[in-house]
Amino acid sequence: MDGVQRTTAALRVRALSVRVLDPRVLQSCFVGMLVLTLLAPVPFTGWHGFSSATIAALALSGAGLALVLIVTPEVTDYRPVIVAMSLAAYATIGVSLLGPDTGTLLLVVLPSLVFARHLGWTGVAVTGLGCTVLTTVPALVAHHDQDEIVRQVVPAPLVSMLAAVMVVVWFEVVRDLRKQAQSALAELELQRRTHEAFVATVDVGLLLLDLDGRELVSNRRMQELARLAYPRGIEHGEQHMRAADGRTVLALEDVPRVRALRGEEFDDVRIWVGEREAVRRALSVTARNMVDEAGRRTGTALAYQDVTELMRASAVKDEFIGLVSHELRTPLTSIYGYVSLLQERDDLPPAAGKHLGVVARNTDRLQLLVKDLLDVTQTVGGGLRLDLQEGDLAELVLNAAQSARPMAEKAGVMLDAVVPGPVLAAIDRVRMAQVLDNLVSNSIKYTPRGGWASVRLSRDADDVVIVVRDSGIGIGEEDLPKVFGRFYRSAQASELAIQGAGLGLSIARAIVEGHGGSIGVTSRLGEGTEFRVLIPALVPVAV
Ligand code: ADP
Repeated sequence: MDGVQRTTAALRVRALSVRVLDPRVLQSCFVGMLVLTLLAPVPFTGWHGFSSATIAALALSGAGLALVLIVTPEVTDYRPVIVAMSLAAYATIGVSLLGPDTGTLLLVVLPSLVFARHLGWTGVAVTGLGCTVLTTVPALVAHHDQDEIVRQVVPAPLVSMLAAVMVVVWFEVVRDLRKQAQSALAELELQRRTHEAFVATVDVGLLLLDLDGRELVSNRRMQELARLAYPRGIEHGEQHMRAADGRTVLALEDVPRVRALRGEEFDDVRIWVGEREAVRRALSVTARNMVDEAGRRTGTALAYQDVTELMRASAVKDEFIGLVSHELRTPLTSIYGYVSLLQERDDLPPAAGKHLGVVARNTDRLQLLVKDLLDVTQTVGGGLRLDLQEGDLAELVLNAAQSARPMAEKAGVMLDAVVPGPVLAAIDRVRMAQVLDNLVSNSIKYTPRGGWASVRLSRDADDVVIVVRDSGIGIGEEDLPKVFGRFYRSAQASELAIQGAGLGLSIARAIVEGHGGSIGVTSRLGEGTEFRVLIPALVPVAV
């Protein structure tokens, strides 16, 4: 809010800078200028140009000044003093003009400016009248036979009125500007209060930093969270921040505030703050750069949302899934073993053999599900272990296509695999095979009979690229960003009752990222889907 306050103060100073002037200052200026005008010729012409009119004018102005000095402290309203003083100034100029020309006529502009300033349009009229009666008429009477002087004094009231008009117009413009400045001030003040109320109300820690890391805005929630992260103050350097897994201590360069100050923008960066377990909070941090009208970065804005309950609930869920799947694995292995034993017997009635086949298929499915569940619990919290060794991805792609072929034939989907020859990368063969199996089987599973699916392997500059495409049901735009989430299934998959638990892609993503790669998806509903996997290649090639 500092910036807004500074602007407000500056505007206020500007708006108040035009004030009613002190009569003592005005009269001193007038006397000063009169003395200067009258005495200026003395070095050139000597004192003989000095007439009694000149002396009378000087005496009059001096008396006026004395009077003003005495009266001013006694009055609260300066206006009558200023009006009287300005009329006296016309009279003084009038007196000085009774003698030979001393150049004082020009000074008529001074009282006219003061009248205009203090009486507005009335001041213009008073100027005209005052100048005519007190300056021009006495000069005309005194010098009616001197054309030169008459020519000069006649336009004086007009000139002084014109000067007054200019001043009145100028002050009206200034008044308008001041009004505009004041309403802008009020608007700014309102905005400031609204922001303050807004920032104070939200239960999200908000922080605005300038480029040097100075805090411009920080709300109450932010200060509470900062106390957890920096119990001894940020300048002390001691920080209690951990990464999303809750264990790894956050390196200084990974602290969201430091990243944001480097100009990074990010969403939902998860961290834990707090020294002791009991008070520790999980935060989701978002950062955006602030820029001025010219697009230059002026600072950064950070929002810290408390997601502790969500993280704890998710940890409990993961723990539960891990426990249940672990407990299910042993009895399932036993069921599977005994069913296989039974199937090997040839003294079973045909119906029992058929029923055992159904039990075996469902046990298979259950085993796969339990394996996925166990994989999922491994992938969370950085628990995925990969054994990276140099391996040929082309071979894995061909194997995946080979094993999916019976499934494709059964589903009536044409499956096609294209590889350019051996392509080496540092991979965990088992896990990469799992990724390929999942993507290829999905492309068949989500493609209606008569469609096609393909898997292609290629190289670009730094990566091995695996593209799995199909002409299947596609994924709706709103589902696309979520398909890599755990247990997420698209609306179409659920509507068409296609079997699945929504785990395969989340496992695939964890495996691909564990290889230092990335996985993305593009799709159009009803037209098909494309998954693109990038894995860092072993030897980069120039393209
Ligand atoms: P599932 O076991 O449900 O297939 P996945 O994690 O493999 O789980 O996929 C998550 C969801 O993504 C699926 O339920 C489906 O809605 C969508 N999906 C995945 N692959 C495809 C595809 N090739 N075509 C259309 N939808 C797909």
